[in-house]
Amino acid sequence: MNYNYHTHTWRCLHASGTMEEYVIRAVENGIRYMGFSDHVPFRCADGFEAIGTRVPIAQVYDYVNDAKLLREKYKDEIEISVGFEMEFYSNEFDSMLSDVKKWGAEYLILGQHFYEPEHPSGVHMSKPFDSAQVLNTYADSLVSGVKTGVFTYVAHPDMVNFIGDESTYCEIMRKVCIASKETGIPLEMNFYGIRDNRNYPNRAFWKTVGEVGSPVTFGFDAHTVESAFDGESYHKAIKLVDEYKLNYIGKPQLIFL
Ligand SMILES: [Zn+2]
Ligand SMILES: [Zn+2]
Repeated sequence: MNYNYHTHTWRCLHASGTMEEYVIRAVENGIRYMGFSDHVPFRCADGFEAIGTRVPIAQVYDYVNDAKLLREKYKDEIEISVGFEMEFYSNEFDSMLSDVKKWGAEYLILGQHFYEPEHPSGVHMSKPFDSAQVLNTYADSLVSGVKTGVFTYVAHPDMVNFIGDESTYCEIMRKVCIASKETGIPLEMNFYGIRDNRNYPNRAFWKTVGEVGSPVTFGFDAHTVESAFDGESYHKAIKLVDEYKLNYIGKPQLIFL
């Protein structure tokens, strides 16, 4: 695996190490295409800014510029891009997109962590739930995000911690697989989930992905220097590709903003 477009930085306040250490770790392990995709800043209409899980707005230009300086410094060894992992919130989408372009982002991955914007409510989808209606709304958000055409891929499409009926889950999530297949926007098998023994990769989801034939890519979702290369999870991911006959495309094609 010589690519990884899912990398966080200390600026989101829940990742460690310097950006340069991530680059060095990647280069030393044969990564040739690397993307920084930290959690996008988010400010609500009332001025509330969500911090602690995201790059603060006050640091966003520094984040982009630091990545571009590293690109220049390591250009002979690795091709570095910079963008964000961003939610699709229908009411906020236009302004978020214009912000990330203004800040100099080159690409986006769709990471739908919340059911709705964090403020005033915003339920994190890692919390267990059994409502098919919530899952359905969530899946619709992913489909709408995919159809905007601006996201390079869908990060951890299976992160929702749905504890209800499996056939209901598959039926609803199939919509996401079909949108991916129709648009050619890949679904990411997320290595943070593998490393951390999370509820994803969700086997029922990847079985459905295999049936639909959606394009599949991998992402380290690095929040530590060590995970800027994760060969151990790669072997586990390849096993799932074989088991569910997934359409693994390797390095995704970046969709430039
Ligand atoms: Zn994170
Ligand atoms: Zn994420």
